[in-house]
Amino acid sequence: MKYKTDFLVIGSGIAGLNFALKAAKHGKVAVVTKKELMESNSNYAQGGIAAVLDPVDNFKSHVEDTYNAGGKIGDKKAIEIMIKEAPQKIDELIDLGVGFNRIQGKLDLAQEGGHSRRRIVHAKDATGREIERALVFNIRHNSNIEVFEANIVVDLIVKNGKCLGAYALDTDEKKINSFFAKATVLATGGAGRVFKNSSNPKIATGDGLAMAYRAGAELQDLEFVQFHPTALNKKGYPHYLISEAIRGEGGKLLNSKRKRFVKELAPRDIVSRAIVEEEKTGPVYLDVRHLGEDEIKRRFPGIYDQLWWYGIFMEKDLIPVAPAAHFNCGGVVTDLNGKTGIEGLYAFGEVARTGVHGGNRLASNALLECMVFSGRALKAAKNFIQGKRIIESAVPRLKIININDRTGKLRRRMQAIMWENVGVVRNRQDLAKTIGKLEKIEEETGTLYKKGVNAQIIELRNMIEVAKLIAESAYLREKSVGTHHIAKN
Ligand SMILES: Cc1cc2nc3c(=O)[nH]c(=O)nc-3n(C[C@H](O)[C@H](O)[C@H](O)COP(=O)(O)OP(=O)(O)OC[C@H]3O[C@@H](n4cnc5c(N)ncnc54)[C@H](O)[C@@H]3O)c2cc1C
Repeated sequence: MKYKTDFLVIGSGIAGLNFALKAAKHGKVAVVTKKELMESNSNYAQGGIAAVLDPVDNFKSHVEDTYNAGGKIGDKKAIEIMIKEAPQKIDELIDLGVGFNRIQGKLDLAQEGGHSRRRIVHAKDATGREIERALVFNIRHNSNIEVFEANIVVDLIVKNGKCLGAYALDTDEKKINSFFAKATVLATGGAGRVFKNSSNPKIATGDGLAMAYRAGAELQDLEFVQFHPTALNKKGYPHYLISEAIRGEGGKLLNSKRKRFVKELAPRDIVSRAIVEEEKTGPVYLDVRHLGEDEIKRRFPGIYDQLWWYGIFMEKDLIPVAPAAHFNCGGVVTDLNGKTGIEGLYAFGEVARTGVHGGNRLASNALLECMVFSGRALKAAKNFIQGKRIIESAVPRLKIININDRTGKLRRRMQAIMWENVGVVRNRQDLAKTIGKLEKIEEETGTLYKKGVNAQIIELRNMIEVAKLIAESAYLREKSVGTHHIAKN
């Protein structure tokens, strides 16, 4: 199938959907996504979205918290823009129908690590799902937007430095679809899944990062992978995220001797490293029993239910926790309006590197980044398409195959290597060896890809590309900063 549109949006997380909805006022929009419309990291976001809304709070404090959490290497101008636009973005979401929690009519503001004030707007403990629900509802009722689910984009179509669109494998129909557009948007999220232990859903395979790299876009700060300190650590169970908001409500971290060992609301990199250190002598637990069953169920109903399924009762059990790969602070380099170095290609959300996170992301600033920069990119992209025409081009012929047993093995090997050597604490010798090991997997993946493609092979090819870029970037940064921590030998 060949499809032509004004705006092509790749990815249906909060970044992509917010852009699509706004862009539909200015032209035809195609949203292409590799699974169902709701499936995204966004849909699993628990804690909330940060904004200065309390009269005792101020922009300066949110800017400072963001800059300090990022190891003081973030881009202050980008941070200021994001933080000043935050209150307006909360209003936009409320206008869309998002039901944030309120107390006596006022937005209920939660506390999270690294924030010096309570400023996290939330919908119980499932904020991402509530925002996605409202966006999806509006998208489904918009006649200017066409949604293509089960279409995994293979690569961008770039000619003479201009992005013309992208081609995708339709995993239901088993055919290749080409999408040509005046402006193309990468909103494909992060790459948490390149690590063995990750809080991310299966879609987070770094496809957009890899595609942009292959297309010649600049990527930066990939070494800064945020490891969330408190993912469930129970053998045989997923690394289910246990929101920082629980520590914001007084949840304590205890070591194997049941003693506290770190300030629970310190930035995530500090807490993660402290946990890794404690794990050398035994497991680490999160203790939220002081809140009592009623309050836990009221404030954290989703987490309570999920842990119940995993055999943990939050009101009486300690929760075993450990860090897991969570968020990519770096990504495709953009300006403050989502523009990449490739004409006609925009990127925002977790796939992008705007400079707001520096070396580490402050809690609840990711959804905010999605909202702010998707809005800003729309302004740039709608001007860009004026007077432009859609240009078509040939796309590579790919053989589509069903399964390949080797893919799963290569993927698991890569994830284990990344976790062991490019995790919370790194050392330069291991990083150097890692690059060589990843190259071998890359070579084998390349051979598989040439024989025929399916969604698993497409993802593996992207993951290995991104894994290598993360390891290389980590090797090149000799000094510790933010999430990137080099152990002293
Ligand atoms: C468990 C969890 C909890 C979190 N909690 C919070 C929180 O409380 N507050 C906060 O600010 N942040 C939180 N985050 C981070 C935040 O959710 C993400 O950074 C943010 O949602 C990213 O949004 P996005 O739109 O950029 O990407 P995503 O939401 O990840 O969406 C990416 C989309 O791209 C699609 N896609 C990817 N590759 C392709 C391809 N090749 N072809 C077609 N489609 C593709 C995916 O299917 C998906 O639809 C959390 C993350 C997780 C995992």
